[in-house]
Amino acid sequence: MPETVQIKHATLPLRERMKIPRQHMLEQSAIERAANFKEVNLGYTTELASREARRCLYCQKPTCMTHCPVGVKVQEFVDLIVAGDFAAAAAKIREDNVLPAITGRVCPQEDHCEGACVLAKKGESLGIGYLERFVADYEQSTGIVHMPTVPPTGKRVAVVGSGPAGLTVAGDLVQRGHAVRVFEALHELGGVLTYGIPEFRLPKNIIKQQIDYLRATGVEFETNVVVGKTVTIDELMQEEGYDAVFIGTGAGAPLFMNIPGEHLNGVYSANEFLTRVNLMKAYKFPEYDEPIVSVRGKDVAVIGGGNTALDAIRTALRLGARKAYVVYRRSEAEMPARAEEVRHARQEGIDFQLLTNPIEFLSDGNGWLGGMRCVRMELGEPDASGRRRPVPIAGSEFDLPVSVAIISVGTSANPVIQRSSPGLATDKRGYIQADPETQRTSRKGIFAGGDIVTGSATVILAMGAGRRAAQSIHEYLMNG
Ligand code: FAD
Repeated sequence: MPETVQIKHATLPLRERMKIPRQHMLEQSAIERAANFKEVNLGYTTELASREARRCLYCQKPTCMTHCPVGVKVQEFVDLIVAGDFAAAAAKIREDNVLPAITGRVCPQEDHCEGACVLAKKGESLGIGYLERFVADYEQSTGIVHMPTVPPTGKRVAVVGSGPAGLTVAGDLVQRGHAVRVFEALHELGGVLTYGIPEFRLPKNIIKQQIDYLRATGVEFETNVVVGKTVTIDELMQEEGYDAVFIGTGAGAPLFMNIPGEHLNGVYSANEFLTRVNLMKAYKFPEYDEPIVSVRGKDVAVIGGGNTALDAIRTALRLGARKAYVVYRRSEAEMPARAEEVRHARQEGIDFQLLTNPIEFLSDGNGWLGGMRCVRMELGEPDASGRRRPVPIAGSEFDLPVSVAIISVGTSANPVIQRSSPGLATDKRGYIQADPETQRTSRKGIFAGGDIVTGSATVILAMGAGRRAAQSIHEYLMNG
């Protein structure tokens, strides 16, 4: 690697750059934030962002970029931050990522760009996610929209579902001159970003601004349309004249544990709990009097160890839970949640009952939950997922006194479209089968991607599928 790399603006010698420590983002204090729904992370200042950007090594083989599912040109946008041209940095990200203010907040960068950053081998990786968030927020503050420059093609595409997969397809196709309309079953746009991820991690106004940006570039949106019921895909193509359809309907149907007592009042799926808080605005209590406020003053447990579980329990804490437990059957090392979320949850006082599994929900005698019978676990041999299998320890049963339990043990495919679209191939669990390179389905002109194909995954993987689908839809529309 050369001593001083010439991209454009990097002038500090490599040795000096390596001496700069990673700049940490400002956060609300744990005590303060545990009682409010304001964002936990407060973002970089201009000074912090500029200092962090100067840490980039400008590697000749930028693995950060090749490990990004949407291929963001990390070096180039970071270099524009070094130059102080934040608007150009935002425009550079937008070439590959239509939702930068969202991925800058919730993408698991440690598994992608930052995990592949050379700096991580010797210390801490470049704060690529933090820098992305900084320029995306800067762009939103300017209100500048980069309009597509290509002439209209006259082709029309229907996108089903307004989660990150659908939004990415829409944003990419409109930039290529196609007319795009997004159909969403719910009354709010954004998919899990809106109804799942809570305000304190991803504020609703950020999602709205990112969607407004897409609207300004020409994407049309229609809510309260359940494709498969209100209108079928065949009707969209044959009667309404759409040339292609993209299905990005997600995997939001909750799985349950099938243990005794699951029917008791006070036992929720994480999906229901978070939807009530996010869409029915329980987080704005008492302005919105949503019944979920029954967690106030109660002891609450979430079962599971993913992002959804931590979002649910941290939400319960903010709604006034007295004790808030995470009950997870493996150890912290196997938890699928992002490390940052686990750290934040611990700081806020969440009690982690690890290597613990519920075996029964206990009644209080009046049809409500009165407690949870649990068993302690130990880790045995690895299972099919490669993680060590949790095995119950005989005689270790105990009762956890909780009056609200939130089940967060996974989800399955949203089913409506599959049932109403003859010839659309699915696997045995109901997920739509699509070619992993082109996102083509078994039906001509119909493409699919995101959680409805892969099962529950991540925002950036759904967006990666959206990008691939947009590319092949474009080729299909232009070349047949
Ligand atoms: P979705 O986001 O599920 O969107 C699908 C949309 O399609 C929905 O709006 C749905 O209403 C709509 N729809 C369904 N059926 C129809 C129909 N028939 N007609 C019209 N519309 C329909 N990932 C991360 O990377 N980082 C995180 O921090 C993170 N946190 C998460 C927290 C929670 C609580 C949850 C539940 C998930 C989290 N994830 C996270 C996962 C991530 O949000 C999903 O992988 C991603 O949203 C999937 O995107 P998608 O576009 O495939 O589907």
